[in-house]
Amino acid sequence: MQFGLSYANLKMTTIMTPIVLFLLFLSLTAIPPGGRQYISLQRPGCVRSGVVHHEILHALGFHHEQSRSDRDRFVTINYANIQPGRQRNFRKVQTNNLGTSYNYRSVMHYRKTSFSRNGLPTIVAKGNPNQILGSSFITYSDIIRVRRLYGCRVVHHEILHALGFHHEQSHSDRDKYVTINHTNIQPGKEKNFRKVQTNNSYTDYYYRSVMHYGE
Ligand SMILES: [Zn+2]
Ligand SMILES: [Zn+2]
Repeated sequence: MQFGLSYANLKMTTIMTPIVLFLLFLSLTAIPPGGRQYISLQRPGCVRSGVVHHEILHALGFHHEQSRSDRDRFVTINYANIQPGRQRNFRKVQTNNLGTSYNYRSVMHYRKTSFSRNGLPTIVAKGNPNQILGSSFITYSDIIRVRRLYGCRVVHHEILHALGFHHEQSHSDRDKYVTINHTNIQPGKEKNFRKVQTNNSYTDYYYRSVMHYGE
């Protein structure tokens, strides 16, 4: 497998320009510790960038900011104001905070009245009730975390997965271009080589794609 985005990959993703710009901006990373998740972007052009950034960070393994293990030093959760059944959205998680300080304006932070049952705040910053929480855009500290958690190699591959792209050799037309030697595949790994009904209308099969398996 090669690393770095190829021209064909870029062409494929120009339909998602705002996201791609963000990806290039990150120019990062690797496979998240918990494996990969697929995020759904049904109408990529219509998704607000903050939502996309938020979802991509989830896909990379990040939790909500107010779930941080050290959050009680920074915010108060008003359980009485939370919608019934939504309390678990406010649970704490044993997070690795990667040496970064708590960020009230993280794109991963809930808003002050998220999941409020009565319009009153569900989260309040300690020491400053007027502190704005959350953000519509990714912040510098969000990016620093991604950089610290990941190296600089497989990120393009993984982000293309997160955007919904399959491996190149899974393309529906792959049999015209490659032969899969099923007898040589490790037991249990055959499904990694399955074919998928892909939309190939944007590009030809590309042997050097960052989404193509190596030999
Ligand atoms: Zn979220
Ligand atoms: Zn992959």
